[in-house]
Amino acid sequence: MSIKVAVVTGSNKGIGLAIVRALCKQYQGDVYITARDVGRGQEAVKSLASEGLKTQFHQLDINDQESITTAAAYFKEKYGGVDVLINNAGIAFKAADTAPFAVQAEVTLKTNFFATRDMLTHFLPLIKAGGRVVNVSSFVGARTLNNCDAALQQRFRSEDITEEELSGLMEQFVAQAKKGEHKKGGWPDSAYGTSKTGLTVLSMIHARRLSKERPSDGILVNACCPGWVRTDMAGDKAPKSPDEGAITPVYLALLPPGATEPHGKFVSDKEVQPW
Ligand code: NDP
Repeated sequence: MSIKVAVVTGSNKGIGLAIVRALCKQYQGDVYITARDVGRGQEAVKSLASEGLKTQFHQLDINDQESITTAAAYFKEKYGGVDVLINNAGIAFKAADTAPFAVQAEVTLKTNFFATRDMLTHFLPLIKAGGRVVNVSSFVGARTLNNCDAALQQRFRSEDITEEELSGLMEQFVAQAKKGEHKKGGWPDSAYGTSKTGLTVLSMIHARRLSKERPSDGILVNACCPGWVRTDMAGDKAPKSPDEGAITPVYLALLPPGATEPHGKFVSDKEVQPW
């Protein structure tokens, strides 16, 4: 039987590293730390090795198309595809950051939405039958959905929204933010929240597409919130440890063979949340 493989983006620290730690203990297969910076990635491999955990490493900067295609080719060649993909890499400006909203909108959407979409463009076709895809989104994305105007909310909750339409709406948010007109366009004042609304909707679109195009493959795709977790992103006041933040993403990654749900859902604390 071929060796199974799990790949976690942005896993040199924070929740991503904790996800890898948990997978090492629970997953029957190779587990990959990926990081945009090779040095930081290799340090992470060493730190888990010091805990007695064996991981592999591959460079992966989700903002770099060539890095994505190189990694995708590597997993196709070495494993014939990917069994578990966790899109965890993400960024957030600090509340105190003085960068203009236009810049925050463009930079945040670039990584959290467009780069994760690019990852999925190249990796979704590689997901093997029985595979699991977990997109680490946020409760902030769910809250932001409710702060969009009625027309946007309707599209983000609709069953017929396409990836093209969603990407177009995310581009529209950035373009309007650059002109200072996003509020007039029905968007809320949160670049991070909008990026995560987009990522959750994208997960739902991909789940529906896989159910339609590969109905017998039993692949499950979900978005989740890890909770509020003490990391460089969220600071030291957050209630959850990184290991606790990893629980829901890992639960979704390890949904047992033959499971049919959750699929195309937004999940927090292992529970499907209303959208
Ligand atoms: P951290 O800032 O601690 O870690 C983020 C990770 O993403 C780092 O490894 C970082 O790499 C990596 N990353 C950023 N950009 C890229 C890129 N272009 N390519 C590859 N890797 C990249 O954040 P968290 O661990 O807190 O966050 C992990 C995920 O969880 C994010 O998606 C975040 O939005 C989400 N989340 C976090 C919450 C929290 O309370 N912490 C709450 C809800 C959601 P590098 O070290 O090189 O910068």
